[in-house]
Amino acid sequence: MHTTINEPSSSTAAAERKGPQHRGAQVNGLAAIDMIHIIDDNPVVIQSLAEIITRIELPSTGYLSGRQFIENIGAIKPNALVILDLDMPYIDGIQVMRHLAILDAPPLLILMNEGDPSILNAAEKLGQAHNLEVVASLTKPLLSSNVFRTFKQALSRLKPRQDDTKKDQSQPYIGDRNSLMRALEEDQFELHYQPQVTISGRRLSGIEALIRWNHPTHGLIYPNKFLPIVENNGLIDEVTAWVLENATKQAARFNSEGIKVSVSVNVSAINIRALTFPEQLSNMLTSYNMAPSNLMLEVTESALMGELTTSLDILTRIRLRGIRLSIDDFGTGYSSLQQLHRAPFSELKIDRSFVSNISHDAEARSIVKICTMLGHELGMSTIAEGVEDQNTLSILADIGCDIAQGYLIASPMPVDSLCEWARKNHLAA
Ligand code: C2E
Ligand code: MG
Ligand code: MG
Repeated sequence: MHTTINEPSSSTAAAERKGPQHRGAQVNGLAAIDMIHIIDDNPVVIQSLAEIITRIELPSTGYLSGRQFIENIGAIKPNALVILDLDMPYIDGIQVMRHLAILDAPPLLILMNEGDPSILNAAEKLGQAHNLEVVASLTKPLLSSNVFRTFKQALSRLKPRQDDTKKDQSQPYIGDRNSLMRALEEDQFELHYQPQVTISGRRLSGIEALIRWNHPTHGLIYPNKFLPIVENNGLIDEVTAWVLENATKQAARFNSEGIKVSVSVNVSAINIRALTFPEQLSNMLTSYNMAPSNLMLEVTESALMGELTTSLDILTRIRLRGIRLSIDDFGTGYSSLQQLHRAPFSELKIDRSFVSNISHDAEARSIVKICTMLGHELGMSTIAEGVEDQNTLSILADIGCDIAQGYLIASPMPVDSLCEWARKNHLAA
């Protein structure tokens, strides 16, 4: 198997050569990479990467400039992986990322750079902001053992996990106001619950309710796909009321099965601008006989932006009623220390984008450490979301974070499975 390096002068479509025994990289049969595109102005780098790629039986194509890649970008297939050097003359890696971001089905990305690691870090974040999937980063000069390990890690990240994580991100747009109203009327929504456990004692401390739309023809649809449509069509009050009511009802069931936990419910920015929201919450808790301290509302940091005075008024009145508040996705918004100090939060939930990187990224580790200290100083408990491996959990324990949530502990699951899970893990009272 050989790698084709496209000559800089050539403007023809990127040539591919597949070796006779090419099989593609089947990762648990789910993700298949059928071509690796290497973009680097140094032919030696392309050649050495191509040799390593040959060892994993994949075909590759090389490009000696960003321009040359962009000229051929139409030929990039969805199952491709692009290895991109950041520092190139004329058109650099950041400019190439901009072109990748507007593709309908962008390829997976591995970034490469020499020198200051914070540049690779910033480029990774930029990729995420463009909705590109940056699966790994490589620091030059490349050591073949390093590169090989990075590939293996990158491919293993594509592994399917437990059922709830099989999200089809390519799901087409399927919701409009009418179909969402029907979903409410016909009870097509359901809640999955994800456990939250104390890091020191591995005690079940809470569960987060996450909404799913069980669509009659499209199957299970995840919230990021339909909540924006819910919000834009004036239906978020109804949907939040549905979630709260069902989470409260099911919490009563957990209690009766011996699972004594608090239930976290996500609320949208629109909910915390509605002046009657605190009363609605109190009425609902009374009718289902639930202690207010067993309900935690998760408000994302970005939801606090905008009409802060109204939100602070409502959040304070919610807190006065004894309901607890968590600041979700912390670190991704722009809340000032003063806002954080003024808002009556009980819990600080550190965003997954930092947590999932703490085992290999010193900056992410510092951020999680600082968020934990900040939360504790302001009298909040701290929870890390997106805990996927044991190493991350051990680092969180060293940092002193209180609670963990993530696939390592359990994926979100339907209510029956949660009761079963708690019993199996001896977490039911
Ligand atoms: P979130 O509140 O930050 O919820 C955490 C998301 O991370 C969930 O995605 C969960 O399935 C996923 N997750 C949990 N553990 C891991 C892990 O270890 N690794 C990774 N990669 N992901 C993990 P989901 O359920 O798709 O929800 C996405 C977002 O939708 C939620 O983010 C929340 O902001 C919103 N959402 C979910 N349910 C509701 C709801 O009932 N009402 C409102 N307003 N928003 C909701
Ligand atoms: Mg949440
Ligand atoms: Mg979150």
